[in-house]
Amino acid sequence: METQTLEKKNIINLPTNDTALKMESGHNKNNSILILHNALIVTMDTQNRVFQSGAIVIEDDTIKAIGQSTDIVSQHSSFSPQLIDFQGHFILPGFINTHVHSSQQLARGIADDVDLLTWLHNRIWPYESNMTEEDSYISTLLCGIELIHSGVTCFAEAGGQHVTGMARAVQLLGLRSCLVESIMDAGEGLPGSWTKRTSEECIQSQKDLYKKHHNTADGRIRVWFGIRQIMNSTDDLLNGTRDAAEELETGIHMHVAEIPYENQHVMERRGVQGTVTYLEKVKLLQNNLLAAHTVWVNDEEVSLLAKAGVKVSHCPAAAMQMFGFSPVRKMLDAGVCVSLGTDGAPSNNRMSIVDEMYLASLINKGREVFTKGTTDPTALRAETILKMVTINGAKSLLWDKEIGSLEVGKKADIIVVNPSTWSMMPVHDCISSLVYSMRTENITSVMCNGRWIMRDKRILNVDEEEVISMAKRASTTLLKKAGIQIPSRMNIV
Ligand SMILES: [Zn+2]
Repeated sequence: METQTLEKKNIINLPTNDTALKMESGHNKNNSILILHNALIVTMDTQNRVFQSGAIVIEDDTIKAIGQSTDIVSQHSSFSPQLIDFQGHFILPGFINTHVHSSQQLARGIADDVDLLTWLHNRIWPYESNMTEEDSYISTLLCGIELIHSGVTCFAEAGGQHVTGMARAVQLLGLRSCLVESIMDAGEGLPGSWTKRTSEECIQSQKDLYKKHHNTADGRIRVWFGIRQIMNSTDDLLNGTRDAAEELETGIHMHVAEIPYENQHVMERRGVQGTVTYLEKVKLLQNNLLAAHTVWVNDEEVSLLAKAGVKVSHCPAAAMQMFGFSPVRKMLDAGVCVSLGTDGAPSNNRMSIVDEMYLASLINKGREVFTKGTTDPTALRAETILKMVTINGAKSLLWDKEIGSLEVGKKADIIVVNPSTWSMMPVHDCISSLVYSMRTENITSVMCNGRWIMRDKRILNVDEEEVISMAKRASTTLLKKAGIQIPSRMNIV
């Protein structure tokens, strides 16, 4: 109740309506034309075009034109456009984070440096099973703020308990998302409240959420099906999910082959080599499956993923903390569409996709040494990383007709980077600089669906300080309720 009052009083200080955004950006829905010009524009289109001094024309939520700045500005002068001069700045497509647990943001720091069983049974499950819808809303607001600061305009939710809470936050923040409910119908040691649902109930619940939230928030919210992981799924759930997603023409987000024990479990209970091999057997390997992590896969399974058009979300920080080296180079070489994700705050702590870009390149260069015994600095080049966080992300979310690159007809999901900082200057190679030197702090403005959601590093649709206060209070109450205690590491006096 308290937080609902706060939302009304403080959070919606700039409502997401036309008037507020007109005040902020001069951009509204009355067919006015906005031109961002004089910027270095990295389009990520099929020709990999980069305009050194480019301009992009935005009308309502759509990109109407893109090209050389002088041409574009003169061609549109009769429309009395609003012009924003971004000289010295870079413009890119909004980044797409393909694996985020937005509901776990309040759990940042509750499971650092603990073994996997403690992580799951004593920290994460008690945390998630005690969450209310309001907790999920606050968690997603806090997570969303961090995502926006790192240039993310679209994310794939990995699965939380309260989709309605997440949807409220996404709607308010102005982000784009594929939301997923956390789904399990089997498994050992699960909290009591989770073991009650049958596979049919799990599917029905997701169909209801689809009906309620899919294609809402001006089309920014889509609803997918979720499978937490194979060890928590009956065959009925796997089959039912496959069929329901096909019927509704939506995607499936699932954690796949995270740890060696998972494959061992599949071998013991299901009689085949590992998760990917089993998913092939039950016809779940399809082009609408987004497989998160996918670390423990053999060469044959990589071929199966490629053949089926399965998308893989590589989460470098979480991989190093929890899971292991994923064969990313092998998957890319085989033709698998690989994108990047941050995972959740308890397995990464940082929800910055910018950090993941840097880590992805380094980790996969390091992996070459680990597997081949020789170095290879050419592994996972900067341009590949940029593809992973833009167009590959869009393909992974089955949304590439509308987002993932700056092209005429696509949605105006755009970020502005100011490279003129001690951390990024000088820039001799703009593409490598974006991956190896850029920090989250270099991202100054973010637009989603034609509307600014961050300008000059200020989040526009919610009061950042107020969300932080709400998150502090909610996380303290939630940890107490869940009985989670974090042992002291040092002698606190
Ligand atoms: Zn995850």
